Amino acid sequence: MSTQIKTRFAPSPTGDLHIGGLRTALFAYLFAKKNQGQFFLRVEDTDQTRYKEGSLNSILEGLKWAGLHYDGDLVYQSKRTAIYQKYAAELVKAGHAYHCFCTADDLATMRQEQTADGNTVTRYDRRCLNLTPEEVKAKLDAGTPHVIRLKVPSGETEFTDLIRGKVKINNADVDDQILLKSDGFPTYHLANVIDDHDMGISHVIRAEEWLPSTPKHIILYQMFDWDIPEFAHLSMVLAPDRSKLSKRHGATSVLEFKNLGYLPEAVVNYIALLGWNPGTEQEVFSLSELEKEFDLAKVNKSGAIFDIEKLNWLNGHYIRQKTIQELAELCLPYLQADENIKIQEYKNNYIELVVGLEQERLKKLSEIGERTKYFFARPTVDPQMMVWKKSTPEETQERLKFLLEFLATVPEENWTRNTLQDIVIEEIGRRGYGNGDTLWPMRVALSGEEKSPSPFEIAEVLGKSETIERLKMIIEKA
Ligand code: GLU
Repeated sequence: MSTQIKTRFAPSPTGDLHIGGLRTALFAYLFAKKNQGQFFLRVEDTDQTRYKEGSLNSILEGLKWAGLHYDGDLVYQSKRTAIYQKYAAELVKAGHAYHCFCTADDLATMRQEQTADGNTVTRYDRRCLNLTPEEVKAKLDAGTPHVIRLKVPSGETEFTDLIRGKVKINNADVDDQILLKSDGFPTYHLANVIDDHDMGISHVIRAEEWLPSTPKHIILYQMFDWDIPEFAHLSMVLAPDRSKLSKRHGATSVLEFKNLGYLPEAVVNYIALLGWNPGTEQEVFSLSELEKEFDLAKVNKSGAIFDIEKLNWLNGHYIRQKTIQELAELCLPYLQADENIKIQEYKNNYIELVVGLEQERLKKLSEIGERTKYFFARPTVDPQMMVWKKSTPEETQERLKFLLEFLATVPEENWTRNTLQDIVIEEIGRRGYGNGDTLWPMRVALSGEEKSPSPFEIAEVLGKSETIERLKMIIEKA
């Protein structure tokens, strides 16, 4: 029998899409693509109390940014309440579930008593299971608030997780899970199983935290007499100190990474390697390569450590892959947002030249303004910084004067980084100056920075008159 592979990502709109969530989505997506299957998106929004405004947008925008397109229509659980109620009623009818009228107070007392008896795990004591059909009917007719609980059968539940191997649990350790709440909404467990079945999901790929829920789900599949999908539970994404990755470790939300100037190619590539080992030395993968190479069998069951340095390295790699025009376009919003830069005063061509100079070094797009600010305003130059380590302030002045005079004689058509470099270095040699004691002050005078591209690259982009002007001002100030 050949069944089509169908996977899904099923986030709850309870907060921003985090990097761990994106990884879950990516693995489910890649597994589907690798197997010519389909990848669906379902919003698990039945818990109204945990709903957070804006989170659905964050999820949709994050997935779109990463390039993870889903098949079919977006499924909203909140629109399917009647379906869950119908199935819950069927379970009750078949004797697999029962009405429970216990109040929050009843349950609290039950828990207290169980704890006092020395139990570390408390569970529902099934007192409502002992109600006669007449008692149940009377309470329902009287409109008594109630929930529907799963009647966990005795025995054992076993399944093989595609990442973790065999998992076996004693049903006696499974609580009679609430399936339908008193407000008529399903719990996660009921809705999740019904939807995975209705959507024809063949492989449930999700976070490790749902592993303990899986036996309940399997019991439900069995009660409905439905095919049980395969399960793969992905290990957690950990911070370098092996704690759960959280805000205190820096950015965690996908859109935050976007705003910091990470490219989607880099983020996708990086998180694919969080737990998946391609089995070769290759580390750079495009999304379409991942779609061909990804293998669930090579996903690690131990926690994956988030390493920002590696992400930065990959981001630098993808930044270098861009054409200058593409990179300038990507950097533009950051330059526009920089209040010290009046970007509208500059032509595209100039912005491209400026950005082009940083392409080799740039790790995040958001660094662009800070790195290139001296191209958009004359820098404040620290006279101390201009003095090369083996030189003196007097020598520095002399070199700057030489540069000013010499550069003024260079015709415009020779004003390119390579020609400037050739002729300036030749002249330095002729005069018996050193490269360091001449070029260091030139570079610092033009940029105000300790680190920057070479003085010839800066001079080329600034143009002859601005270069001369900057040198002149520095000399006059001394
Ligand atoms: N709604 C669950 C979550 O937000 C999804 C669990 C699952 O994929 O089954 O993590």
